[in-house]
Amino acid sequence: MKIMPNRMDRGFYLYQQEFEDKALEVLRSGWYVLGKEVEAFEQEFAAYTGGGYCVGLASGLDALWIAFRLLGIGAGDEVIVQGNTYIASVMGVTINGATPVFVEPDAYYNMDSARIEAKITERTRAILVTHLYGQASHMDEIMRIAGKYRLKVVEDCAQSHGACYQGQMTGTFGDVGCFSFYPSKNLGAFGDGGAVVVKEESLAREFRIFRNYGSEKRYHNKVVGANSRLDELQAGLLRVRLSHLEELTKEKEKIANRYLREIRNPDVILPEVREKATSVWHQFVIRCENRAGLIDYLNAREIGTIIHYPIPPHLSEAYRYLGHKDGDFPITEQYANEVLSIPMYNGMTDEEQQIVIDAINQWRA
Ligand SMILES: *Cc1c(COP(=O)(O)O)cnc(C)c1O
Repeated sequence: MKIMPNRMDRGFYLYQQEFEDKALEVLRSGWYVLGKEVEAFEQEFAAYTGGGYCVGLASGLDALWIAFRLLGIGAGDEVIVQGNTYIASVMGVTINGATPVFVEPDAYYNMDSARIEAKITERTRAILVTHLYGQASHMDEIMRIAGKYRLKVVEDCAQSHGACYQGQMTGTFGDVGCFSFYPSKNLGAFGDGGAVVVKEESLAREFRIFRNYGSEKRYHNKVVGANSRLDELQAGLLRVRLSHLEELTKEKEKIANRYLREIRNPDVILPEVREKATSVWHQFVIRCENRAGLIDYLNAREIGTIIHYPIPPHLSEAYRYLGHKDGDFPITEQYANEVLSIPMYNGMTDEEQQIVIDAINQWRA
């Protein structure tokens, strides 16, 4: 049996009738951009997170760069960001002309809060924290440091819908929580989508204006904005998925817990969950020194895997201008060389998971 790293079709068939009914409803409504589905989704998602206001946008990357734009962070400013994040986090900073200052990750693949203070300079304006692979970061410590140095905090929650630290949902700690609804995310649309969650109504309003060419009233443009709108079809479909998100997260948790119990291989390092934090298991990421060997072995058994991410942003061609070199961030680089995401998706069968577990347990480095 062939096992793919992800199966987005399964997530559709779980609620096929509801998705199809909603899609037809929107198609037949004659209203496709910024309407009642977007408004309803924004209210429901804000309520779900426990944050104040949600504004739907076109993508997770838009949520990030517009957040820094509206916080007034740009050329000459520095933003602290973890070295092992997805490169879109860093682009959210650099699109505005600000400089990313990388920090090594901790044992949970999130920003190592103990290494932040050493990176703060008089130019530092913000901390961008990514709750990578679905696990909440060390938020009490990060918020303490941000408060001490009066820094803004932006949360990249593209992988952490529903993950909590001390019972509080990611995306509600900092100034802006940035979400992606790319189809493979835990709360995935059927195309691109994104959103921000903010505490203050005035900031939510700035996002609403910015996403629509800088206008609140048609043809009255207050600022130079963007076209970054969540569309009605995606918003409607996201409302369907959101209504089931709790059970979808529980299912992922069950799959993750079985992997944690049943994978037994001295050459494979399993993920751990931080005290006071929860993970929504966007990915199940293992680590091993002979990763290429494991990938080949699993491929031979028709088991697919993905590396999140093989090239850390500081070594990517896009960021050559920052002047970093191999060896600058040894932990980040070690993770990039050793991490491997194994198959994990809603609708994964017990039998499929058994095949993955048996294969990994039988592998010898
Ligand atoms: C997916 C992702 C993004 C970008 O989201 P898009 O909707 O694809 O633009 C940003 N940061 C992280 C950590 C992501 O996983």
